[in-house]
Amino acid sequence: MIDIQKIEVQKTSKSRLPGIDFTNLPFGKVYTDHMFVADYKNGQWGNLKIVPYGPITMSPAAPVLHYGQSIFEGMKGYRNASNDALVFRPHDNWERFNRSAERMCMPLLPEEIFTEGLQKLIEVDRHWIPTTEGSSLYIRPFMFSVDEFIGIRPFQEFTFMIILSPVGTYYSTPVKVKIETHYTRAIEGGTGFAKTGGNYSGSMYPAKLAQDKGYHQLLWTDGKTHEYIEESGTMNVMFVINDTLVTPALNDSILAGITRDSVLKLARHWGMKVEERKISIKELIEALKSGAVKEAFGAGTAATIAHIEVIGHEGIDYKLPDVANRVFSHKVYRELDRIKRGVAADPFGWVVKM
Ligand SMILES: *Cc1c(COP(=O)(O)O)cnc(C)c1O
Repeated sequence: MIDIQKIEVQKTSKSRLPGIDFTNLPFGKVYTDHMFVADYKNGQWGNLKIVPYGPITMSPAAPVLHYGQSIFEGMKGYRNASNDALVFRPHDNWERFNRSAERMCMPLLPEEIFTEGLQKLIEVDRHWIPTTEGSSLYIRPFMFSVDEFIGIRPFQEFTFMIILSPVGTYYSTPVKVKIETHYTRAIEGGTGFAKTGGNYSGSMYPAKLAQDKGYHQLLWTDGKTHEYIEESGTMNVMFVINDTLVTPALNDSILAGITRDSVLKLARHWGMKVEERKISIKELIEALKSGAVKEAFGAGTAATIAHIEVIGHEGIDYKLPDVANRVFSHKVYRELDRIKRGVAADPFGWVVKM
């Protein structure tokens, strides 16, 4: 058992909080005063501490720098009127973190380190949690290998950290996506279901090519045939086709998003017809042409719901119905936001008070 009381806290001598403009938060550029660190060595976790946020040192031979052995999570926290921090589904993020750890040959992290580390960190940096509309605290737990050894073998020393970033909205406008049929993000048997660094580094070049053409994001397709829609890189993707909410069924090349799961649970709870199944490009293009696609959006923690206004395929841009007239995606965004902020009932017990 890990004695959580043993988390050592070294506080900063000078908080940066007074210099932060909470009315104009960029995404991912501002970090709170402290961070949580734990070390894995000799087969166990220890050295749990909270220290001032800042640069870290490691050996230049650390495997993470050479082989990209790193995993991460993304969660959001809010602050209610009684100053409680409300964190959305942290248990699910912890479970996914360990699924990623297993696939990447990294040690499992006990839940109490994940949650108590976060709890303690939030206690110290509570006043950094934004309360302004549209903003929240982005929580980034991550783990990487730090052995001083550049051979290839399962590594033995790891660092787990949590950093916190007060953030504003991720996408301020609806997004344009391009269906990718050449490059591959993830393939059957690979690491697509794990939240690991390499999935992102390999995606950047194809994403940049699409950005140069005016798109924000790619819609990835399966790596084998490039015929089926998978997800959108940092978000899962969903469509309202006629009256049905349709999303690609999970497989090992799709990241099992917690936002995706939350949207599906709410939709079913509201009695909407939901289908998790394969969606071919062919089906999607036909449905776009016939007007059957009423809504399309990405679902992920950073953006929550990102409305898609254009889907590009083979040089043609298919324009979707006006975002203002969409029903489900606004309704589910609003309800999720209200649940996360503690102002709506939480029928699934998603919100954890810290
Ligand atoms: C994190 C992530 C998502 C979204 O997952 P959430 O749990 O909803 O934040 C979707 N796709 C990929 C590739 C991701 O890394």
